[in-house]
Amino acid sequence: MYDHALDQAKATHDKVIAKLDAADIPPSPHNYEVLYIYFGNLNPELKAEMDEFMQKSDLSAELCRELYEKYISDSRHEELVQKAGNEIQNTLSDVTGLVGNMRTATNEYSGTLQNVSQKINDADASDDIKALMDDVAKDTEKMLEQNQQLEEQLDKSAQVMEEMKKDLERVKREAMTDGLTGIANRKAFDERIDQMRKRADSGEFGFTLLLLDIDHFKSFNDNFGHQVGDQVLRLVAKTLTDGIKGRDTAARYGGEEFAIILPASDVKAGVIVGDNLRKALEMKEIVNRANGEALGRITMSVGVAEYLPGESIEDLIDRADGALYTAKHNGRNQVAAASASKAA
Ligand code: GH3
Ligand code: MG
Ligand code: MG
Repeated sequence: MYDHALDQAKATHDKVIAKLDAADIPPSPHNYEVLYIYFGNLNPELKAEMDEFMQKSDLSAELCRELYEKYISDSRHEELVQKAGNEIQNTLSDVTGLVGNMRTATNEYSGTLQNVSQKINDADASDDIKALMDDVAKDTEKMLEQNQQLEEQLDKSAQVMEEMKKDLERVKREAMTDGLTGIANRKAFDERIDQMRKRADSGEFGFTLLLLDIDHFKSFNDNFGHQVGDQVLRLVAKTLTDGIKGRDTAARYGGEEFAIILPASDVKAGVIVGDNLRKALEMKEIVNRANGEALGRITMSVGVAEYLPGESIEDLIDRADGALYTAKHNGRNQVAAASASKAA
């Protein structure tokens, strides 16, 4: 990824360090990498988003973290998948090469055998036969050795492929998981909701979407710091996963917003689930892990919308978002349902 000439890399490095210093951002590998990509102009989308942000306010560690999650951790997965794919390809080429060698050796050997049996037919002296048998014995030994080597190689290759397979599965799983909370991420959410829409449109069963947003999370973060904020995000994620059933999906939709998909459920059922989750969160006392200090409670607001057959996912999300806005507007810590008509 980073194949800049040394001079250019040094110039970029200097800019990164100067910026981290000026903005008073810790020079962590993630922050450094985001800024390196920015100043090295290695990802136009990341650069555009950062430029837009910096027109409005100063660079922050939070922005770096968001950009890292958005642009870098995903491409890291793609690189890993690519790497695993290449290794499998190389292992396959090795095996193919070995099998080819083996075939040549076998052909040679059967040639030798034919030759020998021909000569035995023609031979009249026992010394000649002895010499011929020696040749056969030597060739046989060579063959056995090669067979042995081939088996060992095949064993090793099979092991490598097995590991690769596991790595690929792990990477696939990680690519669908939110790193902070361990629940489904936005990508997994997008796939799941698309699948639900198809099933609903084919008449199998409908579904309901919940959007859940933590109330006044910004001030919570500002008062207690990002670490505690992250701890709260994990607590919310756990509250959601504990409060839903087998085939329901809870996902981290974005920063401090979550989404739940309830298959075969209508808006009424969605409101009940949303309200139970809301109450479950409200009951929890937040304790700062670092020092045991009690930090009070947090609440969330929920917007619920039932999928209308034929509508687009964007429209469904807009309606759920509108309901969420209503819940916030009416005083937060409550659930609101979207009406069953298209968003205005
Ligand atoms: P509202 O009740 O209207 O939802 O107010 P709010 O403060 O929750 O909403 P706002 O959208 O203004 O702020 C969301 C905040 O969430 C901004 C940011 O500080 C915080 N946040 C977003 N993602 C993360 C994260 O990954 N970790 C932490 N700790 N905070 C985050
Ligand atoms: Mg929000
Ligand atoms: Mg919020």
